[in-house]
Amino acid sequence: MSTSTPQNPSTVNEANSELSTLNPQPSISSLIERKRDGHELTQPQINHLIRQYTAGTLPDYQMAALAMAIYFRGMTPAETGHLTRAMLQSGRVLSYPPDAPPRVDKHSTGGIGDKVSLILAPLLAATGNVWVPMISGRGLGITGGTLDKLESIPGFDTRLGEPAALAQLQRIGLFMIGQTDDICPADRALYALRDVTGTVPSPPLIISSIMSKKLAENLDRLVLDVKFGSGAFMKTRAEAKALAAGLTAVGEQMGVAMSHLLTPMDEPLGHTVGNALEVIEAIETLQGRGPADLVELTLALAARVTGNAPGTLRVLLENGRAWEKFIALVEAQGGDTTALGRLADIHRASLFQDIPAPHDGVVTRMDAGHIGRACLTLGAGRQTTDAAIDPAVGCSAIVKVGTRVTRGQPLLLIHARDEPTLRAALPHFEQAVSVSFK
Ligand code: URA
Repeated sequence: MSTSTPQNPSTVNEANSELSTLNPQPSISSLIERKRDGHELTQPQINHLIRQYTAGTLPDYQMAALAMAIYFRGMTPAETGHLTRAMLQSGRVLSYPPDAPPRVDKHSTGGIGDKVSLILAPLLAATGNVWVPMISGRGLGITGGTLDKLESIPGFDTRLGEPAALAQLQRIGLFMIGQTDDICPADRALYALRDVTGTVPSPPLIISSIMSKKLAENLDRLVLDVKFGSGAFMKTRAEAKALAAGLTAVGEQMGVAMSHLLTPMDEPLGHTVGNALEVIEAIETLQGRGPADLVELTLALAARVTGNAPGTLRVLLENGRAWEKFIALVEAQGGDTTALGRLADIHRASLFQDIPAPHDGVVTRMDAGHIGRACLTLGAGRQTTDAAIDPAVGCSAIVKVGTRVTRGQPLLLIHARDEPTLRAALPHFEQAVSVSFK
């Protein structure tokens, strides 16, 4: 990772020579007009737009207009590929020694209580056959982020530089860090702009944004966990399937072996939502005591990306090898491993309140979207990219759909910082649960 190496240098050179033959270069406004009128942009035109934007010579107001034109007109698969490659090439691509083992990673489109990466990354590294260069994001809106969760471990540093990250890969086979300043700077700027211009939910913009960052890891294999349901970005399975197809097409164009799962996100994953609470549950899972839904999903994703049978991978969760790898990760990134058993005390909320079952019956709904909004209200998530989060708050002991309960039995336990946030979150929690009379 010491040099900036584009993934596919021949494609870059072709693009450069094609670009230089365009003389004169069409004006930015004429390219915006072309997209506005539903025409396909060429690779040199998209490269030109992204280069100018990264260089600061294409102002935000023109990029916002282009993003809105893309939002309404969409992009062909070829244009989406060109946009992804242009954003990837706006920054550095990690590079590895020639004898490095295959690099693998997972991308989840985000859910409630989704702490899979915390378990999956050490599990994959524990196989000893692959490297896991995992670059993750922070939570935004109702979905949590792996970096925020990891930072509830005292001392854990998610901002390693490239030389330190490569040395760590060679030593223990994994790192878990945030996006550095020089990885996909075009995406960083464009994502912030989309966030305030109503242009986030555009499939080609989502696909190019996600894939440019993953491709910067220079992976051999990527498994996608594309979620659908009340707590997910995509509300229906059909939307998730279309997104998976778009992400897969771009990954395959760039030479990455892609696989995916489409998974429901109508109830939270596992029994906890909230940063430190989720790390505690991930630790229990790495110690062989995880909830069934979390364990099964983690093993299924690991099986897809490694080709190993889920049973073989389960052994690594049960015999402590994945847990040992997690401890090695925490130690390598400056975290206090002695704190891992004390996280509940280190991050203790001030107020606890449960949501009781209104009557005897069966839990028929534990709505992930409402629980996500409730936890955001408590302070577990952020409304804007630079807001602070509270690692202690959230909810635990979430009862799974299908469980028989008796009147008054707690359906979940709320961890709150203060009365006002608890009062504001309570209606969301109350709306999240349904218990049938049967
Ligand atoms: N995640 C990203 O990184 N980008 C998007 O556009 C949406 C989700």
